[in-house]
Amino acid sequence: MRAMVLPRPGLPLEARDLPARDPGPGEIRLRVAACGVCRTDLHVVDGELPFLGRPVVPGHEIVGRVEALGPGVDRFRTGDRAGVPWLAWTCGACRFCRSGRENLCARAQFTGYHRDGGYAETVVADARYAFPIPAAFADDAAAPLLCAGLIGYRAWAPVRAAGRLGLYGFGAAAHLVVQLARHAGQRVFAFTRPGDAEGQAFARSLGVEWAGPSDEPGPEPLDAAILFAPVGALVPAALRAVDAGGTVVCAGIHMSDIPSFPYALLWRERSVRSVANLTRSDGEELLALAPAVPLRAEVVRYPLDRANQALADLRAGRLRGAAVLFP
Ligand SMILES: [Zn+2]
Ligand SMILES: [Zn+2]
Repeated sequence: MRAMVLPRPGLPLEARDLPARDPGPGEIRLRVAACGVCRTDLHVVDGELPFLGRPVVPGHEIVGRVEALGPGVDRFRTGDRAGVPWLAWTCGACRFCRSGRENLCARAQFTGYHRDGGYAETVVADARYAFPIPAAFADDAAAPLLCAGLIGYRAWAPVRAAGRLGLYGFGAAAHLVVQLARHAGQRVFAFTRPGDAEGQAFARSLGVEWAGPSDEPGPEPLDAAILFAPVGALVPAALRAVDAGGTVVCAGIHMSDIPSFPYALLWRERSVRSVANLTRSDGEELLALAPAVPLRAEVVRYPLDRANQALADLRAGRLRGAAVLFP
């Protein structure tokens, strides 16, 4: 099977023919129909996540059809459509796994990082961590839900009751979160790179009330903000933009250093927190909610062998919505 392989960070992906692996106990093999391109893939490719010492196939927003079942799989049948997200495996025994916080499991393994992912014609996954995909979504529209949607959902859940929500960085995750927030009746304000008129227009087209540059406060104080851009300087900027009692959620797996800032920005019960990875419950909740919104992913399609171009376009901020690869 054809796959795009990262030999080691800092190098371009290479097209290679790899043997299609047979699924082991509890595993399924999918024929990949679509795989989203996520900022975390860039962090893997650019070496901002530690190199694990072996070549890897990136990609963790995978939609495909089950073509082979390992022993003991009863969640799926051959021909079913399934989605494979970032969370590939957890230990099931640690205090996090046993308290509904498997996203924090120290032994967790991740798709497209510890395990080969979906920049390929086939992928093998632990069936317990794969999701059935609602029929309402086409393959390409479903792929971005599996990380941009899921991480967006996990970042949004703690601030879903905030009246005025700011989104910093208007990429794949934010363009889905704005739809969740509008569905929940929140007022949404989008903060983009200064001068990014196109990004601001895209945000307005999705129903934000205001869109402007991230280095200035918005037109009124926010009750909460979510940071999707991996830029540490946005933490004090967002704290400055939220009202007393407000929460700033950092949604990325990697961020540049946060500059020091005066305590006055945190005082009056403002808080800063991060969200990490996802739980299977997050996936079930989002995929149940998505058809009701209905969540519509704006997709930019690339053939699989153009994965390097898709990554370059994401790195340069040239995408409007989510990049999706097709084998
Ligand atoms: Zn665990
Ligand atoms: Zn991701």
